[in-house]
Amino acid sequence: MRKPAHALPFDRRRFLRLTAASALTAPLSGAGLARAAAADVDVIVIGAGVAGLTAARQLTDLGYEVLVLEAANRIGGRLQTDWSLDAPFELGAGWIHGPKGNPVTELVSAAGGETFVTQDDSLLVISGDGNPLKDELIERKEKQLAALYQRIDATFDTDQPLTSAITQLAPKALADPVTAWMMSAYTEFDAGGPLESLSAYYFDEDAAFDGANVIVSNGYDRLLGPLAAGLDIRLGHPVDSVSYEKGDGATVRANGLDFEADFVVCTCPLGVLQTGGIRFDPPLPKKYRSAISRIGMGNVTKLALKFAIPFWPIETQYFGLTGGPMGRWASFMNYRTFSNQNILVGISVGAYAPRAEAMSDAEMTADAMRALRTMFGESAPDPVAAIPTRWSKNPWSHGAYSYAKVGSKPADFDMLAEPVAGTLLLAGEHTLFDYHATVHGAHLSGLEAARRIDNDLA
Ligand SMILES: Cc1cc2nc3c(=O)[nH]c(=O)nc-3n(C[C@H](O)[C@H](O)[C@H](O)COP(=O)(O)OP(=O)(O)OC[C@H]3O[C@@H](n4cnc5c(N)ncnc54)[C@H](O)[C@@H]3O)c2cc1C
Repeated sequence: MRKPAHALPFDRRRFLRLTAASALTAPLSGAGLARAAAADVDVIVIGAGVAGLTAARQLTDLGYEVLVLEAANRIGGRLQTDWSLDAPFELGAGWIHGPKGNPVTELVSAAGGETFVTQDDSLLVISGDGNPLKDELIERKEKQLAALYQRIDATFDTDQPLTSAITQLAPKALADPVTAWMMSAYTEFDAGGPLESLSAYYFDEDAAFDGANVIVSNGYDRLLGPLAAGLDIRLGHPVDSVSYEKGDGATVRANGLDFEADFVVCTCPLGVLQTGGIRFDPPLPKKYRSAISRIGMGNVTKLALKFAIPFWPIETQYFGLTGGPMGRWASFMNYRTFSNQNILVGISVGAYAPRAEAMSDAEMTADAMRALRTMFGESAPDPVAAIPTRWSKNPWSHGAYSYAKVGSKPADFDMLAEPVAGTLLLAGEHTLFDYHATVHGAHLSGLEAARRIDNDLA
């Protein structure tokens, strides 16, 4: 049964609709005709990524009339699987981080997803002169790095960039090629931002589910199908503006049309909010604008390379190269462990991610091949196909995922999920600190937005 949209004492928009209907006999002005609403629903959800689809699914199942406006011509946002290499190349999210008790595990399983554990310790690290490093050395350096991070946590009372904290406590750490590689491959990739911008206080304070990381070997994006089934999703509808009034509903403008609703859930990525991709009228309150500017939006550049034959140990999951610029092709993931395709996916992080992104496709491929030939020898052949990602150039994301930038606080993330003027809610991975930067964070934020609407924004 359909639940009443909300329990506001007076619904101005419904009142206006009634009076407009009774005024139909009077001649309409040109302006009146132009502003007729293209739709009028209980809830408009902006964005059909995991957060938006989750909120829309949940609210629809609760009986609300929901419309989803999506700028791109596909659903999924930063969850996007490309099959053109005959194996699932995950352009955005690749792993279910900590699958135990993780709601995304259930979604994937219900959608027929098959998971594969990517063993983190199945790792071959090669030095700049092409020699493999011994496992004992890697383990020792990993322990030293963990101890350094613990000392950082225990030592400083004020926030500062992670690089500055590192240099004060371990002045030689960044000059050590193996430690520097770990800081890129582990910390910068996990946290999402460059070492020099990460908050030494909060970069690793988020929460995690248990269990070894898994990928979805038959495509991560299959989880979108059940979320989106039966929803009214308008693709190719970039929202320009949201006009909202206290407790009085909102008008959302996209493609020159006005869409009206009692509530709006805006799941645009942090990068879109930071670059003013949507005009809010009135502007978002100052505390939201300040938090949006304080949180970091990082970048990660992936490059899938397909080869005619493998020239690497096919049973090893990951490869790393020490000695280059920080973040440059910090790791390569080997697809032969879970598919029969000769694919390596290179991942550039930190300050190198935007540098890689600025290269042409051919330059980026050549750059990654230089790294691979240092690791596996000059005879490594050119790839037969290459697919790069450029998330910070994507106007609907402006980056990969949010991170704890120096000067930001966990409360900045969480506060963004609080309702604005009883009408507007922000949701998305950047609106909950504990699980930001993840698919499960996006999903949980969508559930939270739906819960708040169903509880009259309590
Ligand atoms: C390279 C990369 C690697 C990642 N790796 C992992 C990983 O391994 N594991 C993991 O859990 N997470 C990972 N993530 C993070 C994860 O993908 C995101 O946290 C999650 O998908 C975000 O979902 P969302 O719904 O919050 O945002 P999005 O998926 O970005 O959805 C927002 C939607 O809003 C739309 N939109 C934007 N502007 C407008 C507008 N003006 N009007 C209408 N629509 C608009 C966008 O097109 C998009 O569809 C990764 C992300 C990237 C980019």
